[in-house]
Amino acid sequence: MKTFCGRANPTTGAMEWLEEDENYDYHQEIARSRYADMLHDKDRNVKYYEGIRAAVRRVKERGEKAIVLDIGTGTGLLSMMAASAGADFCYAVEVFKPMANAAVKIVEKNGFCDKIKVINKHSTAVTVGPDGDMQCRANILVTELFDTELIGEGALPTYEHAHKYLVQEGCEAVPHRATVYVQLVESRRMWSWNKLFPVHVEAEDGEKIIVSPSEMENCPGVPSVCDIQLNQMSSSDFTVLSDVVTMFSVDFSKPVRSASTSYRVQLEPVESGKAQIVLSWWDIDMDPSGVINCTMAPYWVKSTSAFQWRDHWMQCVYFLPNEEPVLKGEKVYLTACRDEYSLWYKLQKARGKEENKADVCVESPVCRCQAHLLWNRPRFGELNDQNRTCQYIKSLMKVLKTDSVCLCISDGSLLPVLAHYLGAKRFFKANHLEDKIKIIETRPELLTSFHLEDKKISVLVGEPFFTTSLLPWHNLYFWYARTAVTSHLASNVTVLPQSAALHMMIVEFQDLWRIRSLCGTCEGFDVQTLDDMIKNSMNFRESREAEPHPLWEYPCKSLSDPQEVLRFDFRETVPEHSLSTEGSINLLRKGKSHGAVLWMEYHLVADVSVSTGLMQISNEKGNCEWNPHCKQAVYFFSSVIESEALSDLHSAVTYAINFNTKTGEIAMDFKL
Ligand code: SAH
Repeated sequence: MKTFCGRANPTTGAMEWLEEDENYDYHQEIARSRYADMLHDKDRNVKYYEGIRAAVRRVKERGEKAIVLDIGTGTGLLSMMAASAGADFCYAVEVFKPMANAAVKIVEKNGFCDKIKVINKHSTAVTVGPDGDMQCRANILVTELFDTELIGEGALPTYEHAHKYLVQEGCEAVPHRATVYVQLVESRRMWSWNKLFPVHVEAEDGEKIIVSPSEMENCPGVPSVCDIQLNQMSSSDFTVLSDVVTMFSVDFSKPVRSASTSYRVQLEPVESGKAQIVLSWWDIDMDPSGVINCTMAPYWVKSTSAFQWRDHWMQCVYFLPNEEPVLKGEKVYLTACRDEYSLWYKLQKARGKEENKADVCVESPVCRCQAHLLWNRPRFGELNDQNRTCQYIKSLMKVLKTDSVCLCISDGSLLPVLAHYLGAKRFFKANHLEDKIKIIETRPELLTSFHLEDKKISVLVGEPFFTTSLLPWHNLYFWYARTAVTSHLASNVTVLPQSAALHMMIVEFQDLWRIRSLCGTCEGFDVQTLDDMIKNSMNFRESREAEPHPLWEYPCKSLSDPQEVLRFDFRETVPEHSLSTEGSINLLRKGKSHGAVLWMEYHLVADVSVSTGLMQISNEKGNCEWNPHCKQAVYFFSSVIESEALSDLHSAVTYAINFNTKTGEIAMDFKL
């Protein structure tokens, strides 16, 4: 079997479909999976174990045999917990074949072969009966099918089916219940991920303000959830407008309905302000009494939550379709609508007669302005970053002349509009200023002098930003595009940015290291088989790869100074030969070297730069502040390096980095 995998090609700026052999998908899935993160989630594991023990005890106390159905067994962990807790038999269902195979090995290694049957099927394909996958219906239902939004991984239809066909009436369920909480807030920072704010341009003939068109103003956006590490959001970034309220609960021990529905709560604002955002998270009660509770509540709701780090469950940010002014004490209704897999919210004033609940169920929002399809949430945030915009304005003012002919190469960029307001005469490619700005729908290598009305380009600009970029250096597509349009450039062309520099720093992560560290044992069960699988998958490609992470969500401290490792001169064309560098980077602080972080800095003009990574190192401890709109590249060191304690402060990490100009990819190797 062959698999096609999408991959951004930095030399063409396009998504490409590469044919990979069947192991590729599998290895990507294992190496980048959240299984390890789940097994490191001590709080989750302990509570599942307690909940499972209590459920087995309740069934036994009724004099029944304990027959467990574990849907989505993964490594088999929850089934092994049940077997250890005295369950008579467990059916462990797992749809993902490599994991089902791993579960078989892990169950065997831990000596539970006679108690646990692994079934490699989707739960809805499982049969019950003398010749079926299960001999009889189960009386204990154990699952962990939740994502940050609770229902996004299909928990509801899976439960609905299981209650109809796979478990007995009155079964025990672990977890017993899930509850979704909401809090209404005003937040300029989070709202900036959803709406384009007015852009202020200080031009020579006074200040100009670029506003977004009304269809964008009124657009309800896209329904996909925005999941973030809310614990990294400072309390100064939002104003709480309501108390935390329960939006809805699901009792997993009773039949579950997955059909679309809505829930409505009344809120009494505790502050006046602009209702923009619904923050949401859930908790699960492992037992009916709710004593064993596992919560995703953020730090201002539960102060210890910061210590229970996890990446497989975070918190949700929902954008209301429009901002609504609310007054302290004046009640409003918040409605949550859901289909089988997702949720969205709507706010209504509570004046007059109470509305019929059926009336308030709204259709899932659909973006009408296109911007929400073109720009993702971080990109909105980036475009709304007035400081960043100022750097571009400052630079454009230095290079633009009244007779400049500009070409902008970037996706969904505001640079042409800025340049127009700053007085450039001719500008190609941008939005509604049709007579002043011409959008050329062609690939750079197909650009002709006809497109440019026989003019030579005197200023070539880019942020650069391309929607297909995943890693920082993928935006080097700008360099390839610049090379492709060389024949159209005037001899004295100005290229902005004039160059880019790849920077690197060695860091110790507060928590992110967990997602790539070995598990060994989990709650006393040997899960090394999973470790071996992950190691094997990481080494599947000869060179290990860097992976993108938005580091503002993942605190780390710097162990070295930031260092420039490669420079890309956009004033020249892309060279034929690859660009390589070798060197070493000194470790200045004590700590565990978990990996290297890499990011780009763009030198717009001689003395103006923007960083897509490190903004500053904030104190002597080395705490870092990262660009909040960009993902940085993280290269996790292999386990050998990671496990070494750094006692000698004068150690160094040596590196070899190679930018292959043919593929646009960067390969790297490190030694401690
Ligand atoms: N139970 C494990 C793993 C949870 S991850 C633990 O708690 O550590 C969820 C797993 O459920 C994934 O491996 C996924 O492939 C599987 N899964 C999700 N829905 C499923 C379904 N309806 N039937 C079978 N497996 C499912």
